[in-house]
Amino acid sequence: MTIYNFSAGPATMPDPVIAQIKADMPSYKNSGMSVMEISHRSALFDDIINTAEQDMRDLLKIPDNYKVLFFQGGGTLQFTTAPMNLATKYHKIGLLDSGHWADRAGDEAKRVGVKVDVLNSTKDIKYTKLPIIKNLTQDTYDYVHVCLNNTIEGTAYSTLPDTGATTLVGDMSSNFMGQQYNIEDFGAIMAGAQKNLGIAGLTLVIVRDDLIGKVQNLPSMLDYDLFAKKNSMFNTPPVFAIYAAGLVLKWLKEQGGVAEMERRNRAKSDLLYNFLDESKLFTAPVEKADRSLVNIPFVTGNPDLDAKLIAEATEAGLLNIKGHRSVGGMRASLYNAMPYEGAQALVDFLDKFEKNNRGTN
Ligand SMILES: *Cc1c(COP(=O)(O)O)cnc(C)c1O
Repeated sequence: MTIYNFSAGPATMPDPVIAQIKADMPSYKNSGMSVMEISHRSALFDDIINTAEQDMRDLLKIPDNYKVLFFQGGGTLQFTTAPMNLATKYHKIGLLDSGHWADRAGDEAKRVGVKVDVLNSTKDIKYTKLPIIKNLTQDTYDYVHVCLNNTIEGTAYSTLPDTGATTLVGDMSSNFMGQQYNIEDFGAIMAGAQKNLGIAGLTLVIVRDDLIGKVQNLPSMLDYDLFAKKNSMFNTPPVFAIYAAGLVLKWLKEQGGVAEMERRNRAKSDLLYNFLDESKLFTAPVEKADRSLVNIPFVTGNPDLDAKLIAEATEAGLLNIKGHRSVGGMRASLYNAMPYEGAQALVDFLDKFEKNNRGTN
């Protein structure tokens, strides 16, 4: 039986990457050591981290005046680190409340003494639409924080909110490398690796160099400027996670890059959305224009039927389609590594389930 893993994160990885990890495991490049055992100060690792950075720069067309930094601590630690490094003039940021992860970002910023203004929210309609900025004319925020792909609620910004002259900081944790954005539209981007770029333990930060180095004596492990100066090796970096991300980046290049990934993600999600919109049993609650290409929540409206569906899907090899506890129902994550056949298998299964369960809702 073919297994497809629809988990929102940690998530499915490309098969060739897993095969490469397996092949490399006993002796990386004939060194007699696995990647788990090599020194981060070795030439072997220098090559891994430098190649990963260069491949990322090529894939995203990152301009030279942006730093690429490798952190630990997940997307969540960046909710703390970004305001500490970037909210240095007004000590105040704007936030679009688009769901759970945006809300968490605001919460962590407040914990480090930064004031957070919610510029707009769609909480009252359960985040089924994206909040937009109506009119931001004054320059009173160090930046506006936006969560580009709302992993839990299933929305994504395809057009960026208009922040005027104010710096935009984007959380791309769940659609990093899966949807095209222009790096120059952002002051900084953060992304945990375990959704679309590999394994947990690594978080990417891409930041414009004029924005950093403004605060003295930040805790070293949270200091963008220090990490930039130390090539992300102030201390031991997550060696294996950087190696795994490097393999995913190579795979992305072979597949045709981010434009091709976006095209595939659109094809997979269209297949599923079209089915859901035609269905008499299932509903996809998100407003069409705001739908995510990679995280797709859907419901039957009957929690017992949802539970039955999830159990039967699991038995059929379609894993982890249970929705987030805050939303309920189901959620399918169709990240870069999910093949079209996986989306097709899910739609075939849902179609059969609907026919078998006519009249039970
Ligand atoms: C998963 C996720 C996070 C948090 O990531 P951790 O690595 O678990 O800290 C933040 N933002 C978004 C959009 C996410 O999907």
